[in-house]
Amino acid sequence: MSRPGRPRVVIVGAGFGGLAASKGLSRAPVDVLLLDRHNYHLFQPLLYQVSVAALPPGEIAYPVRPIFRRQRNLEFRVAEVSGIDVARRVVRTSAGEISYDHLVLASGAITNFFGLDDVARHGFDLKDLPGALRLRNHVIRRFEEAISTEDPATRRALLTIAVAGGGPTGVEVAGAVSELLRRVLRRDYPALPAGDVRVVLLEGGPRVLATFPPDLSRAAADSLARLGVEVRFGALVEGYDGRRIRLRGGETIDARTLVWAAGVRAGPLGASLGAPLGRAGRVTVEPTLQVPGHPEVYVIGDAAVVRAGDGEVPALSPPAIQMGECAARNIARAVASEPPVPFVYHDPGTMATIGRSAAVCAIAGFEFTGFFAWLVWLFVHLMKLVGFRNKIVVFVDWAWQYVFYRPASPLIVEVYRPPVGTDSTPQRT
Ligand SMILES: Cc1cc2nc3c(=O)[nH]c(=O)nc-3n(C[C@H](O)[C@H](O)[C@H](O)COP(=O)(O)OP(=O)(O)OC[C@H]3O[C@@H](n4cnc5c(N)ncnc54)[C@H](O)[C@@H]3O)c2cc1C
Repeated sequence: MSRPGRPRVVIVGAGFGGLAASKGLSRAPVDVLLLDRHNYHLFQPLLYQVSVAALPPGEIAYPVRPIFRRQRNLEFRVAEVSGIDVARRVVRTSAGEISYDHLVLASGAITNFFGLDDVARHGFDLKDLPGALRLRNHVIRRFEEAISTEDPATRRALLTIAVAGGGPTGVEVAGAVSELLRRVLRRDYPALPAGDVRVVLLEGGPRVLATFPPDLSRAAADSLARLGVEVRFGALVEGYDGRRIRLRGGETIDARTLVWAAGVRAGPLGASLGAPLGRAGRVTVEPTLQVPGHPEVYVIGDAAVVRAGDGEVPALSPPAIQMGECAARNIARAVASEPPVPFVYHDPGTMATIGRSAAVCAIAGFEFTGFFAWLVWLFVHLMKLVGFRNKIVVFVDWAWQYVFYRPASPLIVEVYRPPVGTDSTPQRT
């Protein structure tokens, strides 16, 4: 795999950071081994569109091998990485131990349920394709159940979707789900009373999109309200049994669907480095992205904490890409016996979409809302998608939905299992 005399760089994770690091090493005199548990790169910013049937899964995922077909110094392996032994410089994987000269850990983040085990068991998170498909199946199946339910209270609970967390993911999911339920599925289920459909966004703090400028938070909350989303502030989820959400203070909400978008934390691999961990379990790295005491190990993207000014670099795709490029540059410099350069974050701005035709954007000191912001959001996301075919089919799907309000993929794709007992307790497949 590795040619004699050439250092081996192992990169864990084919997400935004891992891909950027891999590409950045294409001309370096090293052999690169890229590892991921999946054989595809996932465009997570559009994951929620799979969960609301707006896009089929293949349009937001791209197989890794074709991306690197022309990169001769790179090999790709599908493998689950279970730990890193920094003393022996080996990565433990499902395909055996793999040694490295330089390591880039780009394993991203996992959902943070903050110890709420019942929420983890009965709720739905959005971190991977199977999860997004489970949510899509679940919501459409609840509609199928609601249509044959006589009891009004049960029907209302079946048609109630709660989203916990008012960050960009929660806002985007709530807006898209509300649109799906009210405008699209309602046409296919005319017998269901419109008033029974309820989408509730539960935010623990005083505003949605807390990291955006306050007037954009207000614009987002107004857009959500126009889409029929009930936005609740100071609403902290304490438990969920698959039927009833318990909020701090004792209030309950009957809902057969809870989407958990209230936080992420780093996965367990960072901890196996034995390095200092910062907020949400992320590895605190040097300004050069190296692990203290192990200059041959770099941690990037959502797995790392990097300081920028008074705060931290946000856990978003642009920083992950920029860190991947910086880690690649520093590895090439190390091979050339040059000192590493510090990571400098260039903030391209933030944006979030609300439903089918509104968004909020804060870019280079300018703020946009409404339809124009949505066009900006649309353009940026299309450009960032990996694969020319995906750009084209996603654009066609969005145009089709914009004109006809038809979801691209409203299918229940799961192995049929008879409900446990006679009720409709959510079945996770
Ligand atoms: C629903 C959602 C919406 C988002 N929306 C936006 C947005 O609009 N804009 C934005 O900028 N950012 C958004 N983000 C955040 C953005 O996706 C992340 O910041 C970015 O993906 C981080 O890149 P990364 O390379 O660190 O990790 P990731 O892209 O998560 O990649 C990590 C990779 O590591 C692999 N991996 C993890 N553990 C292992 C293991 N043990 N063994 C083998 N492989 C492993 C995973 O399979 C994955 O391919 C969103 C995230 C989510 C979940």
